[in-house]
Amino acid sequence: MKNVVLLGSTGSIGTSTVKVAEDLPDQIRLIGLAAGGNADLLLEQARKHKPSVISISDPAKAKQLQNALGTSAQVFCGSEGLLQLATLPAADIVLIAIVGTAGLQPALAAIRAGKDIAVASKEILVMAGEIVMNEARKHGVRVLAVDSEHSAIFQCLEGKPASSVRKLILTASGGPFRDKTIWPKEKFSEITVERALKHPSWVMGKKITIDSATLFNKGLEMIEARWLFDIEMARVGVVVHPQSIVHSMVEFVDGSLLAQLSTPDMCLPIQYALTYPERAASERVQTNFPKIGTLTFEEPDVERFPAIELARRAGEVGGTLPAVLNAANEIAVEAFVNRKINFPQITEMVRCTMDAHETISQPTLEQILEADAWARRTAAK
Ligand code: MG
Repeated sequence: MKNVVLLGSTGSIGTSTVKVAEDLPDQIRLIGLAAGGNADLLLEQARKHKPSVISISDPAKAKQLQNALGTSAQVFCGSEGLLQLATLPAADIVLIAIVGTAGLQPALAAIRAGKDIAVASKEILVMAGEIVMNEARKHGVRVLAVDSEHSAIFQCLEGKPASSVRKLILTASGGPFRDKTIWPKEKFSEITVERALKHPSWVMGKKITIDSATLFNKGLEMIEARWLFDIEMARVGVVVHPQSIVHSMVEFVDGSLLAQLSTPDMCLPIQYALTYPERAASERVQTNFPKIGTLTFEEPDVERFPAIELARRAGEVGGTLPAVLNAANEIAVEAFVNRKINFPQITEMVRCTMDAHETISQPTLEQILEADAWARRTAAK
């Protein structure tokens, strides 16, 4: 039995994690749940799974939840609540699926308390990959990937060191604007918010769906992979694979390739992270090759999607630059969703902010957070 704390229980990854826990009642126990704003769903989850502790951002909602649950659960609120849950003595693993930078401090707190962490929030490794991985090594805990790509690479590597790897190959669906004949570069300024929110293979939150359309999502994943698997950026490649069946691949030094495949379903990488090193039996994900028929691969179009190269640059330079890329992108996506800028301007905003940044190498967490705040102010201008 694994005691799991889930931070971000009402979002897309959070609700999938709850499904996994319901699939495996003898193996996974949800002992702590934290949500941002959706008190109704959190209450429903708490009644069903009976965690000993829950937390919600808003103190007023926390009071209502405490009244509704009585003595059956302790209710915390705000960032303090996230830290309480992340360090819960009974927790074996803390799954962090909070949108934005709010997951960073709880991730470090969990590591320092000796907990394994499962990371779904990209910001954690993009902003502070070096610090997080160093802390994890120091405290002898695992950092497990929940993202389908990193889970795939982790499964293919099976603990082999970076020296046995020629290249990590992240697959990308290519997003809704992959087809150059329908969406040539000249038409990119006509892309509407509604159109960008329609993703061909995954149903996800708004921010990550826009990131999949610009390919910034893949860019952030390249930086994550660099830290998770301790490999330099030059050996992290991307291939576009519209069917999203191959979740990523590892090319070893002898030229042999291993890939992990399945019908796309986030429950699979979540389950693997929570049951690792075991594989738990589940009927949820079924893959039918004759029905799929064809798997295709193509080069990413860096002309139309400069996000890949911007991320490569940020990952190569390192220091505070990945945090700047991440923050500027968040502001740009928000501006696009609010119809203040057009689609190609998302990438332009990120590029300009990166160009204006004076990178600090080997930054402290404080310097990273300062760079994040600076990038938000600069991008907003
Ligand atoms: Mg992914």
